[in-house]
Amino acid sequence: MIITRTRKELDVALKNFSKNSEKLALIPTMGNLHEGHLSLIRIAKKHASKTISTIFVNPLQFGKNEDYDKYPRTHEDDIKKLNDEKCDILFLPVNNKEVFSNIEDIKTIHSGILGSELCGKIRPGHFDGVLTVVNKLFEIINPDVAVFGAKDYQQEILIRQMAVSLHPNIELIKAPIIRAENGIALSSRNNYLSEPELEMAANLYKALYHSAQSYKKNFDLKTIISEAKNYLISKKLIPHYFELRDHNLNKIDINQFEGKKVFLGSVTINNTRLIDNIEF
Ligand code: AMP
Repeated sequence: MIITRTRKELDVALKNFSKNSEKLALIPTMGNLHEGHLSLIRIAKKHASKTISTIFVNPLQFGKNEDYDKYPRTHEDDIKKLNDEKCDILFLPVNNKEVFSNIEDIKTIHSGILGSELCGKIRPGHFDGVLTVVNKLFEIINPDVAVFGAKDYQQEILIRQMAVSLHPNIELIKAPIIRAENGIALSSRNNYLSEPELEMAANLYKALYHSAQSYKKNFDLKTIISEAKNYLISKKLIPHYFELRDHNLNKIDINQFEGKKVFLGSVTINNTRLIDNIEF
């Protein structure tokens, strides 16, 4: 794997690939890689001849009181994992300048109404920060394909919406959620939790799963949601939202909605906020 730490090094590596007309797939990450991230690389390899992964903890997507400073940075381990997966290029910028050049001048991409709902309601500005950096990475790298996880469902939809107008030639692929045995979605933030807390956190998945089953049986939607929230509280999780939406994240407040839909939930456990969803 070619490790690039600056834009210059990245450009050289990319030029060599474009000379050989390789099809390039991008997998953006913030590092602290786990099986969820690695599954994205495996999927990318099915859609392109070369893969490039980025590891960049994007300051623009963290709020003032969030975990930007303490976000786990495990570069040595990550490099080993990417090497084992035979990723072709890693862009691991030495500093923020290698991504943004001038952070004051950067073109902010606005995430609109959807960007202020669900996770965006709890994290104002978060999705503007995500879209701004993804747009930048798309501009710098210009991949043919980019892979994002369904774990961050709202993020994936917003990136898709942004790409329609700004990057119509990039094919976006949504990768399924990779879970631990107890159902919990793998996440770098799971590292903040103790073993007993991880067991407690698995109740978010249980609530989502149970709610999807109940909806299929045509139980009343309002009751399903209030029972799910009560269940989470009874398990000492603080729910922020628990909602049913269609697969594009339009609101659904009826029973027997025929199309593809998704239950999405977010909880806090001991100051760590976790998200999860189930599509059905
Ligand atoms: P992050 O490093 O958290 O920014 O995640 C980088 C990419 O990995 C995003 O597209 C995430 O949706 C994806 N991802 C994170 N966790 C998982 C998981 N458990 N299963 C599938 N994809 C994931």
